[in-house]
Amino acid sequence: MSQLIDSFDRHIRYLRLSVTDRCNLRCTYCMAEDMTFLPKSRVLSLEEMALVSQAFVDLGVEKIRLTGGEPLVRNGIVELAQKLGDLDGLHELVMTTNGVLLDKFALPLRDAGMSRVNISIDSLRADRFKALTRFGQLDDVLRGIDAARDAGFERIKLNAVLLKGTNDDEVIELTQFAVDKGLDISFIEEMPLGEIDGHSRTDTAVESRSLRAQLDDHFSLVASDFKDLASGPSRYLKIANSDSKVGFISPMSDNFCGSCNRVRVTAEGLLLLCLGNEHSLDLRAIIRDDPTTLKDAIVASMQRKPERHYFDPNDITITRHMSATGG
Ligand code: SAM
Ligand code: SF4
Repeated sequence: MSQLIDSFDRHIRYLRLSVTDRCNLRCTYCMAEDMTFLPKSRVLSLEEMALVSQAFVDLGVEKIRLTGGEPLVRNGIVELAQKLGDLDGLHELVMTTNGVLLDKFALPLRDAGMSRVNISIDSLRADRFKALTRFGQLDDVLRGIDAARDAGFERIKLNAVLLKGTNDDEVIELTQFAVDKGLDISFIEEMPLGEIDGHSRTDTAVESRSLRAQLDDHFSLVASDFKDLASGPSRYLKIANSDSKVGFISPMSDNFCGSCNRVRVTAEGLLLLCLGNEHSLDLRAIIRDDPTTLKDAIVASMQRKPERHYFDPNDITITRHMSATGG
């Protein structure tokens, strides 16, 4: 039973923990070309991350997602996963990664108790992939996906952000790739988080419903009662005659805040109560000052969780990038 209940009676059971704001890619929709990252002294140590995670699990969180930035560039990530994997009361430890280093890390993470991974892949064309990520090599990610399949995760899901005029013609290809590999796939609408310099977000917006329409022409999509543990906003459809599901994460076209069950902690220990608002609590200050007050402070902060976000692609009021937020 979660002790984390906000003023709209939403029960918080899911924590996304950003283990670093750094990344080995620079996806054009996520980051500007020239980024300033946090100095190491401001980033939580692995011990502090484990302490914060323990507090959330004691308060009723059942699922933790390690994310970033790119979680696999954080030194000691496997040791952290092991510590969290051992937490009593935690039902699911999962990760979102760009897959570049997964070839090396898939098996150790699985052995540490991680049950599922999400791997981001926005294009299956090497030149496009490179342009979208500014210097990524598609082959690295493909190798990472295969390593994850071999490691025996319970489920693997691909994440793709489609941008009009860039890669929105790949919705069928990406979905067929997921089907062929026996994986799930989610399409995420681009959110106006942080200033970027490669494109204007109003020009590249693609609504989930247009992707759904394209998919309906090629696949038979049937309603799915799939609910992942402590799941929140994603909606999934089963792809008939396959093991795969397709999901749509539609923060721009279909507000789903009513069922929000999650909070985020940034690499510098800021508890963010909503992706699209700045309401936060500085957990680093608390644990470095008086860690005995941590749980009470977290419980109290739930009363400040906003009812919903109001994303407007024309108005970047949230200046932090997705990489700093913990996607
Ligand atoms: N580096 C890892 C990765 O790319 O999977 C984890 C962090 S990344 C911030 C998490 C997810 O957020 C990725 O699937 C990425 O595509 C997505 N993302 C990043 N910026 C976004 C934005 N502005 N709008 C929507 N999704 C975004
Ligand atoms: Fe890095 Fe992930 Fe952001 Fe791409 S989406 S720049 S891989 S943090």
